[in-house]
Formats: sequence, structure tokens, C-alpha cells
Amino acid sequence: MFYIGCHLSSSGGYLQMGKTATELGANTFQFFTRNPRGGSVKKFDPCDCAALVSYMKENGFGRIVAHAPYTLNPASAEPRTREFANSVFADDIAILEHIPGALYNFHPGSHVGQGTDIGTGFILDMLNAHMSRDMGTTVLLETMAGKGSEIGSTFEELRAIIDGCEYKEHLGVCLDTCHISDAGYDVKDGLDETLEEFDRVIGLDRLFAVHLNDSKNPTGAHKDRHEKIGQGFIGLEYIEKIINHPALQGLPFELETPNDNEGYAAEIKLLKELKK
Ligand code: FE
Ligand code: FE
Ligand code: ZN
Repeated sequence: MFYIGCHLSSSGGYLQMGKTATELGANTFQFFTRNPRGGSVKKFDPCDCAALVSYMKENGFGRIVAHAPYTLNPASAEPRTREFANSVFADDIAILEHIPGALYNFHPGSHVGQGTDIGTGFILDMLNAHMSRDMGTTVLLETMAGKGSEIGSTFEELRAIIDGCEYKEHLGVCLDTCHISDAGYDVKDGLDETLEEFDRVIGLDRLFAVHLNDSKNPTGAHKDRHEKIGQGFIGLEYIEKIINHPALQGLPFELETPNDNEGYAAEIKLLKELKK
């Protein structure tokens, strides 16, 4: 099954996102759990959420991805920033228990000066405090572009987080094609080798979702500027190879390209045509 979707606005509520996804030709989607640049969240509506869950079941949706706000930085040197990250993480995890099989993706964080090891320790403090044995959600570390002091731009840094997590059976990775390209991994002619390296260092069994984005910049640029599918450095020929790669079958592919919904619908249509 090819699960393809895109990032959607959550302003109309949960069920509305499911319906919008269908209109755009999608069978999965991603959304921000709250204001991406702040932290505020609308009051949780369990009925609306339950309506989405049945809608998804009726319409054969794949797993959906809830994305934590960008302001969540558990690796920060600032205690207040870490406290905020911990409270958002705990609240989001609790809400997502209402969506069976939900994937909760977050940017591992930026250590802003005190170094990767200390930052990684803070990330683990958060995971080990708020994850649990019996949780239903799978938490995903997003592969990062390596902008500034971001942690998670190498597979080894992600591995170190997984190794320190007490609940690693609920921890996985979301692979962002723009980010790993920007981080220095070849996703074009070296795609096979890159995925082999992912398997060796992290394990493909930890890979739960793909952020499918083209990049405005060449391999290793560390910029994190997404581009529309086929219009960037990666290019359509290689995007086609990515969606058809045997190691990535069955995963939800979420577009985070600079598009409105109409643009997303066009990309979804194109990708379905390219899917073998
Ligand atoms: Fe992200
Ligand atoms: Fe992403
Ligand atoms: Zn990005």
C-alpha cells in the first residue's frame, strides 16, 4: 500500500483534516499538535478526535504523524526551555493516546553551545520521564539538516538517543529527505548506500515515516530549505526512486513542501503516477 499525504492545518479540527486529506487524494497526513511557533493548544475535543479515528478506519488510512512545535527544545541549555519542552511533550503524548497508532514526531533539539553529549542527556531526561511501557503512540526522532547546533543530523546521534531511552520499543525515526541530503547523505545516486548506512547504524525497523521533500540546496548544505517536489536539488527522477525503494515500502510519506492544498493535491497526484 502506498501511503501518501501532506502537512495539513489543524485549525478545522481532527475530522476535518481527514476529510481534507481525502479531497487532496491523500490516505495519511501530518499536522502540528499546536501552534508551531508557540505552544498554545486548542481545548482537546475527544468526540472530534474519535470521529477522525473512525473516518480513518472507514477510508483505509495509514498511520498519521503528529508534529511537535518547533519551539520544543528539550536539549536547550535554558532550564525554562526544557521545562516547556517537557510539559508540551507530556500533554501531546496524553492527547495522542486517543489516536491508535499515531506517530509523534519531534526535532531532537539544539544544544545551543553546551555540546551534543549534554544536549542528548537532556533529550533523554524528557523521553525517560514521559514515555511509558504501555503507551500506544510511537515517538519519532526526526533526522535533522544540521543547521546551527541541531542534534540528530547524523545517524549516530540518533542512535545515541535510542540507546539511552528506557522505552525504545516505542521510539523510532522519521526520515526527512531534504534534511538528510542537507546533512551530507547522498539521496540521489547514493540512495542505496545511505539506506544501508541507516540500517547499519539505526536499523530500518526503527524507520516509521518519511518526510518527502525536495531541497533548495545541494548535499551537505546544512540549510533546511524545503523545495517543491521535482523543483530542487534532489529532482523528480530521484524522488521517484525514493518512493519506490524497497526499504521504504509501506511507510507513510508526508509532503512538507512549500505548497497550499492545491499544490499538495498536484504533488500527490504526480507521486501516485510515479509509484510502481
Ligand atoms: Fe520537522
Ligand atoms: Fe521534516
Ligand atoms: Zn525542514
